[in-house]
Amino acid sequence: MAARGQPEYRARQLWRRRAAGATFQEMLDLPASLRSELTTSFRVSSLTAVRRLETDRGLTTKKLYSLDGGYTVESVIMRYPARSTLCISSQVGCAIRCPFCATGQGPFGRNLRAHEIVDQALDACQELAAEGRRLSHVVFMGMGEPLANYAAVLQSVRRIADPTGLGLSARRITISTSGLAPRIDRLALEGMPFTLAISLHAARDELRDVLVPVNRSYPLAELVAAAERFGRQTGRRVSYEWVLLAGVNDTERDAHELGALLRGRLAHVNLIPFNPVDGAPYREPDAPAIRRFLAQVRAQGLNVTLRDTRGRAENAACGQLRARVLAQGPHEVRAGPPAPQTVA
Ligand code: SAH
Ligand code: SF4
Repeated sequence: MAARGQPEYRARQLWRRRAAGATFQEMLDLPASLRSELTTSFRVSSLTAVRRLETDRGLTTKKLYSLDGGYTVESVIMRYPARSTLCISSQVGCAIRCPFCATGQGPFGRNLRAHEIVDQALDACQELAAEGRRLSHVVFMGMGEPLANYAAVLQSVRRIADPTGLGLSARRITISTSGLAPRIDRLALEGMPFTLAISLHAARDELRDVLVPVNRSYPLAELVAAAERFGRQTGRRVSYEWVLLAGVNDTERDAHELGALLRGRLAHVNLIPFNPVDGAPYREPDAPAIRRFLAQVRAQGLNVTLRDTRGRAENAACGQLRARVLAQGPHEVRAGPPAPQTVA
């Protein structure tokens, strides 16, 4: 707006209208000449929806978008009686390469730019608004490791939390990480009370080194200490995610180790039944085994819940729609070499 000689408040008007789903021509509080100029010079979104999948009787919508340069990413809207949650992607692929995760199986593509992350939220807002719903929660649990794309993720979060736009409270924004400890410390200093979710999956280094390979750089003691500092700094309870893999991390030994690691901390454990991924050598535990592990963890004195498993039908979980579409044929054009991945 400054470059166009417009007053600063025009930027706020534009952003407010955009967050409400308006096209440039529908932004009637902007002068007509400016509306035409914006229409010819800009797009309202950087994303093009290329696939859409409805599951859970229409309560879950998964969308695959193509980005500039030809890459694709997914996001998932989950509708509940009192809230609507968007699961958002922060990278094309993921360099952490957890062996049970569909996103980690393919090559790493690139970091998403902040506007590409915000556009996922704007698109979901529009879709929900058409149903008389409001986007209430955003979780960075789609494709990618958000803390490996730190600057863009933080910029997108500030945008999503901006009261003149989407206005989601930071408390309703969950950043899920495989455990980049130094960046958890940096996040604690941002002065925003996000919800932090740590993808733990194992409470002994030997097993976590395999399930979440970044553990070799930031082992459990270092990770949990960083999460504790985050909790103290922000006054927020930290969530620990635990994907249940039959015979691998669902035994009584695992429950004891988890108890020893987290007991007495301001923590909440979320158990997630494994969602089968083609080619991954893991199985979901059966229902009695899941109940048994839940009880064993509870008996350790921990706060624990079993996550509901939205979008399981038709491979609709994290990274799987994209994997399926890619398997159907050449759909994605690689634009140049992958961006370098820095972790700390
Ligand atoms: N990279 C970040 C955020 C994206 S993954 C992270 O790892 O935290 C979001 C969550 O989905 C993580 O807890 C991850 O371990 C879990 N996940 C990945 N693949 C899964 C699968 N096949 N079944 C169940 N959960 C899975
Ligand atoms: Fe990356 Fe998270 Fe998948 Fe691990 S679970 S490969 S960190 S997206």
